[in-house]
Amino acid sequence: LIEFKNVSKQFPDKSAVANFNLSIADGELFVLVGPSGSGKTTTLKMINGLERPTGGSIVFDGKELVSYNIRQLRWQIGYVLQQIALFPNLTVAQNISLISEIQHRIKTKEAKKTLVSDALSSVNLDPAVYAERMPHELSGGEQQRIGILRAFASNPRVVLMDEAFSALDPISRNQLQNLVLKMHEETHTTIVFVTHDMNEALKLGDRIGVMNNGELLQVGTPTEIAQQPANELVSKLFANSG
Ligand code: ATP
Repeated sequence: LIEFKNVSKQFPDKSAVANFNLSIADGELFVLVGPSGSGKTTTLKMINGLERPTGGSIVFDGKELVSYNIRQLRWQIGYVLQQIALFPNLTVAQNISLISEIQHRIKTKEAKKTLVSDALSSVNLDPAVYAERMPHELSGGEQQRIGILRAFASNPRVVLMDEAFSALDPISRNQLQNLVLKMHEETHTTIVFVTHDMNEALKLGDRIGVMNNGELLQVGTPTEIAQQPANELVSKLFANSG
């Protein structure tokens, strides 16, 4: 679905990504892992056009990414960030139904209520308790659940997640990881998940790409990465993850 062909991204004073070749299959949960500054976020942003490659090309669904209308592309690509991006002045229910309303997919108040209630229940939040709350009345983990719902709300082809759970405590983090696995299993949406945590990568990834210093060091299944690290750097990153 997404193909990087010899992609590079050169900032004026820094090469963030170099000689990057990777194919991500339709329906895959692909994890990009690597230390801080290794180029993961830059790579992710190139998928939805927030950054443009300075070399090489990216093909999305058979067509060069540059040939897409960026606005249309954004509907097809959901984005979940570490800093939660809910609309602060809208209730939880409004945050959830907004995208469906813009797309005219809900026609009546009743349909909206059902959509919100089903969505909240699917992430284990009681609609009676949460629907009318404001984002600041939620914990970080609860907000991130809504963030995930919103990312999936437009039935996107791809959901990008950037260190989405890094700010959460271990229990919430574990719950949200399980939620991502559940959403992936139910929707088969392609997910590209960025993290610096190797354990998270091993738990979530169908395949993992290990990055360091702008380069892709190894791509493989969790078992391959854990048992046959391509080089010392990969095994070191793996060992440091505990
Ligand atoms: P982290 O886990 O800390 O977010 P990362 O692996 O996502 O790191 P990137 O954010 O992709 O790494 O950054 C890769 C390199 O490119 C870093 O050295 C960063 O300083 C640099 N960089 C990123 N964005 C810009 C920019 N807009 N201008 C200049 N340099 C940038």
